[in-house]
Amino acid sequence: MEVRVRYAPSPTGLQHIGGVRTALYNYFFAKANGGKFILRIEDTDRERYTDESLQDLYDTLSWLGVKWDEGPVVGGPYGSYVQSERLELYQKYAKQLVEDGKAYYCYCTPERLEKVRQEQIASKSQYQGYDRHCANLTQEEREELEKQGIKPVIRLRVPTEGKTTFHDILMGDITRKNKDVSPDPILLKSDGFPTYHLANVIDDHLMKITHIMRAQEWIPSGPLHILLYNAFGWEPPQYCHLPMVMGKDGQKLSKRHGDTAVRDFRAKGYLPEAILNYVSLVGWSLDGSTEFFSREELEKCFKLENIHVSPAVFDYKKLDWFNGQYIRAKSDEELASLILPYMQKAGFISASYTDDEKKKLLRLVPSLKERMKVLSDCTELSAFLFEDKPCLDKETYIAKKCTEEQTKEALYKAGEIILQDSKAGVPFADTEAKVCALAEEMGIKVNGCFQPIRVAITASTVSLPLHDSIELLGLEETERRIKRAQELFNN
Ligand code: GLU
Ligand code: ZN
Repeated sequence: MEVRVRYAPSPTGLQHIGGVRTALYNYFFAKANGGKFILRIEDTDRERYTDESLQDLYDTLSWLGVKWDEGPVVGGPYGSYVQSERLELYQKYAKQLVEDGKAYYCYCTPERLEKVRQEQIASKSQYQGYDRHCANLTQEEREELEKQGIKPVIRLRVPTEGKTTFHDILMGDITRKNKDVSPDPILLKSDGFPTYHLANVIDDHLMKITHIMRAQEWIPSGPLHILLYNAFGWEPPQYCHLPMVMGKDGQKLSKRHGDTAVRDFRAKGYLPEAILNYVSLVGWSLDGSTEFFSREELEKCFKLENIHVSPAVFDYKKLDWFNGQYIRAKSDEELASLILPYMQKAGFISASYTDDEKKKLLRLVPSLKERMKVLSDCTELSAFLFEDKPCLDKETYIAKKCTEEQTKEALYKAGEIILQDSKAGVPFADTEAKVCALAEEMGIKVNGCFQPIRVAITASTVSLPLHDSIELLGLEETERRIKRAQELFNN
């Protein structure tokens, strides 16, 4: 049997890490099994739908290089793949269920439903669900209500006895008593729109989906979906609910932990390779040790059995590490074109990107590469080359455990060594050794000498390697900036 899986997002918000992981696992599973990856847009919640989130979905998947075999834009034999274009179908199937006695029309007004809710809360201390008021209306009663112009919803008749079980590939059998399934959920709303459950089950069946991989938060919907499959007389697909994505504190990953929207990671300069690689490892591993995977490799080696059951932690630091690795793996040319937009936005490089600017950028890239975690770091690291904003705050120059006096001395003495040696073309390793000796003589750590020089030259404590900075800036300008810092400490 051909594997057919789907990613079925609701375009009500931006694609976040968890959603994208679901998409990737489905995609890799399809590829690894020679199957089909289907994209389906579950856009029946019209109030929460936005064009922006739909566009964001397309942008994110294409940025990651994930192509769907069937779905919007590309089409396919089971289209439309956009739920709002399939309303008649859901209506037809819902009516079918009514005819078969598996579902029924409900004419209750919102006011009545609210009253029921309040009464239940008062008497049973919590809401138990719809009271099945319309479950057994006679034909005459129904006609009477129709005559009043009331548009009914269609509700599923959930059995009151027995239990429902579904099997999950990772978690085993999950069983729930039918009396604990929310009584008689709405399948079709009075405006003719399906609810999530109805549309989801019908589409998975009609699109011949074989495996459902989705977030664990959908587990509570499992029994209801099985009841729906049973009501239709259809075979349910296989289920594989994915482990939760958590922050380091063990709470579900959310804005509180940092960025979660892929678009924001992208804007900061995370590379698609790094996101794809790291996100895949959040809850999955091949052998517990291999860390680097390209998309092509994952398309071959992804296995369901290797998905973890326990919650997975999304570690921002680890992602930074991966991103740094992928940045360093880029050629200078490639990296130059990747950072160009950031440099232009900062005003460091003109919109016309002249040959001179290109040369300058290419000279800069090798040292940037060593220090960047994300592409956007390039502007901060290289700002000192494009603007001269001296640091006027003495504290910034003073390294840990050093005094202002020592810092001043370092600016003079280390500054002298560095400038002399640079002029004479002494290898930087030798210069470094001299500065180390100086630090020892002064009874301070070597950073006590280097930090003031670095701040003098770059106005920042985090910067490119010092010798690169000097070379890129030029000796004359370096000297001017070191002298200026010495002056600062004379006051
Ligand atoms: N539209 C649902 C969502 O946004 C799909 C859930 C499922 O995969 O069944 O997550
Ligand atoms: Zn009713």
